[in-house]
Amino acid sequence: MYDAAGPFFGTLADRLVYDRAAEPLLDRLGGPLPETGRGTAAAVEELLRVGTATATASAGPRFFHFVIGGSTPAALAADWVVSLLDQNAFVKASSRFADAAERVALDWLRQLFGLPEGWGGALTASATFANVAGLTLATHWWAERHGADLAADGLAGLPRMPVLATGLLHPSARKALQLIGHGKDTAEVFAGPAALGRRLAALGGAPAVIIATAGEPNAGAFDPLADLADLAASHGAWLHVDGAFGLFAALSPRTAHLTAGVERADSVAADAHKWLNVPYESGFVLVRDPSRLGAAFGMPGAPYLPGPDDPRGGFGLLGPESSRRARALPIWATLAAYGRDGYRAMVERHCDLAGYLAAVVDAAPDLERLADVPLNVVCFRYRPPGLSEPALDDLNRRLAEALLDDGRVYAGGTVHDGRAALRPAISNWRTTEPDLDLLVSVVRDLAAQLR
Ligand SMILES: *Cc1c(COP(=O)(O)O)cnc(C)c1O
Repeated sequence: MYDAAGPFFGTLADRLVYDRAAEPLLDRLGGPLPETGRGTAAAVEELLRVGTATATASAGPRFFHFVIGGSTPAALAADWVVSLLDQNAFVKASSRFADAAERVALDWLRQLFGLPEGWGGALTASATFANVAGLTLATHWWAERHGADLAADGLAGLPRMPVLATGLLHPSARKALQLIGHGKDTAEVFAGPAALGRRLAALGGAPAVIIATAGEPNAGAFDPLADLADLAASHGAWLHVDGAFGLFAALSPRTAHLTAGVERADSVAADAHKWLNVPYESGFVLVRDPSRLGAAFGMPGAPYLPGPDDPRGGFGLLGPESSRRARALPIWATLAAYGRDGYRAMVERHCDLAGYLAAVVDAAPDLERLADVPLNVVCFRYRPPGLSEPALDDLNRRLAEALLDDGRVYAGGTVHDGRAALRPAISNWRTTEPDLDLLVSVVRDLAAQLR
């Protein structure tokens, strides 16, 4: 592993993001379960042989699909420490070290995003689990308002929980609603805060949950958080913010207006494995009233387990998971290594790179930008003259597929305002302008082949 790391990082910036030619190597993973093992070195060598050839270079600078950060050197080294020490970050009784690191990591994250003192939370595997955690807390609050004990009795006998959102609502939040038992289709979607406010008024004071999105993946758009916080305050609703990557707008004075109001939310979900550039899996939920966590996530008693208020308790009783790896260590290490300034500089560099790509697109007669670029996502399409809208959609859909097969750069396709488009997101600390120049030239290259 140690020997393989150097060559892997040495070539990461220049290798194909995905090498289809290496795909047959994947067959080497198969075969029947070995009756007799081949030994540690042989097994790990085989894994490295297959893995270094077939892995997606999503940790490299030219992966613009989804929103996927890489790993900073400090975060990666700390992630290796996680495996070295193999702590169970369940409770203090299993690891005082992991518990202490998680307390500090959560508080540093709170400070990083400018959230008020007194907030708490838990580290989760992802923003999806952070959405589950935040919306679970919201559901407990809502059930309490109906005089019910959700932890003991579940949703039985309760009305449907009103969930209000805008068109920016992310599928992950819907998945969270689906997991908790509200159903993925229960969220009512409104065009904006005014319409959402009318619905809240019509509910006549019945408790409701608002899900706001801070940074959606198509173009990086934001709900007006301050307006939604006003509505939540005046109607007594719970405000949950899904800021998986968009929360990082708070780090720069240039973009902090996008997240203004988040400090008035009740729960905030975000990812560390995206823009913090920490290895997978790493997300977190931050909540205004951490005293609610134990009631929602404590485990029904067993004589050998600490209770939620036990001095030997910990985050396994304050979040959705029980046994868990010490995912605080990479967060702690990367924040300790680079600090608030380092992260502000990275976010600003990525926004500058998005602005650079937007300017290249705007200056190109054959490219068309389809949305504003408030943050780090650039939504555009290839648009040669003389093609009808259906032909442009078809071409751009095939272009997005071709990019993934080509592998020199990765950028995903989407449909924005009814038009097929590409939506590269810039969130890797290694990315530079030449990587974006390459993206544009590969787009042109493949589009010419497809036509
Ligand atoms: C990526 C993303 C999620 C889901 O994050 P996972 O880490 O994949 O669970 C949720 N919401 C938004 C806005 C996202 O961009």
